[in-house]
Amino acid sequence: MSVVTRFAPSPTGRLHVGNIRTALHNFLFARKHGGTFILRVDDTDRERSTAEFDQAIRDDLEWMGLSPGKIVRQSERFHLHEREFERLKDAGRVYACYETPEELELRRKVLLGRGLPPVYERKPADAPVPEGRAPHWRFRLDHDSPIVFDDLIRGEQRFDPKLLSDPVVRREDGSWLYLLPSVIDDVDLGITHVVRGEDHVSNSAAQIQMFEALGAKSPRFAHEALLVAAEGKLSKRLGSYGAEHVRAEGIEPMAMLSVLARIGTSQSVEPAATLDELAAGFDFATFGRAPAHFDPKEVELVNSRLLHKLDYAAVADELPDEASEEDWLLLRPNLERMSDFGPWFAVLHGEVEPPELGHDERLLVKDGAAIAEKLDWAVEPWRSLTGQLKESSGKKGRELFHPLRLALTGRESGPEMAGLVERMGRDRAVRRLEAAAKR
Ligand code: GLU
Repeated sequence: MSVVTRFAPSPTGRLHVGNIRTALHNFLFARKHGGTFILRVDDTDRERSTAEFDQAIRDDLEWMGLSPGKIVRQSERFHLHEREFERLKDAGRVYACYETPEELELRRKVLLGRGLPPVYERKPADAPVPEGRAPHWRFRLDHDSPIVFDDLIRGEQRFDPKLLSDPVVRREDGSWLYLLPSVIDDVDLGITHVVRGEDHVSNSAAQIQMFEALGAKSPRFAHEALLVAAEGKLSKRLGSYGAEHVRAEGIEPMAMLSVLARIGTSQSVEPAATLDELAAGFDFATFGRAPAHFDPKEVELVNSRLLHKLDYAAVADELPDEASEEDWLLLRPNLERMSDFGPWFAVLHGEVEPPELGHDERLLVKDGAAIAEKLDWAVEPWRSLTGQLKESSGKKGRELFHPLRLALTGRESGPEMAGLVERMGRDRAVRRLEAAAKR
């Protein structure tokens, strides 16, 4: 059996970490098993769905490398939903209902008041049809046996269908609710695994009966625990944390994905350079039942750890044309974001602002300039420079190194000086030392 998964967002907003995580898990599971990952755009709600969000979702997935093998849109499949709906109607598995929302609410309150489960009560087949009212439609659950399924994350799940209301699948105006078209499409697309949030567990119970009623085999389910902000409930802020934000912050998509792939599992979060790396270790058996805690700070930490291990080949496209592999290897341990590279690259091959030094420091770097001028830059220039300057000035340690670092890089700290000095070249070094001596 070839694995087919789908990610099914509604184009009523941008993707945020919560649904990016679901997309990622669907993608990784399919990738691990050599299967297909489908993007199903759930745009049955014609009023709230927009072409812009539809586009933004596709762009965001693409930017993160979560490219779907296939894209379908529910709004283009209404004919199929209609056909299957008729079939279920003929078989008596969907039926017309005429209650108003107020009547239903009242009944609910009465049942709750009596301490009974607020389950929808079916009307007898010969109940009178109220005049002038269009029906909405419910799926008739089979009450005869419990609904049991083996969730890949939650283990055995068991529901008594008598305690579930027959779900409404279609409104008076003919528009669809989510449950039934989702199942019809899952059948048609040959979905083998449905991976989604645990808020869908009881939907799955009803949907399993829909798969059966359509004569199809139910897919396997994996309901993941929800994502919460490290400090509490998935806050508004986290709801707006998505690809757009990460992109604007200059964070690598793989940093966010590395975090989202592993939080809430028994595996530790490690920076992964590729989706294949994440897919290799992906396993629902490691997923926990407790909410996964998401912390944007963790993404930033993973981002710098990721940059520190990325090969030149992985980043060459993003670097200035003149940047060499040596430049990258020298500078990468110092980067928190990719955007830190540019300013460091200028330290090697561009200009830096001369620092303001104290009187003694100025004298020291002036001597340094004179020594540097005469050095053979091909053999350990930093060692020679500091060695000779130590001798002539009698200074050592921080007193010696700090003014040199400041003058040569314009910064208090950074990568090891030997590499920097070697790569910036003699002319640049001398110029900087002289400039700092004069300021
Ligand atoms: N559009 C549904 C949602 O976003 C899809 C749920 C599913 O994966 O079946 O909740």
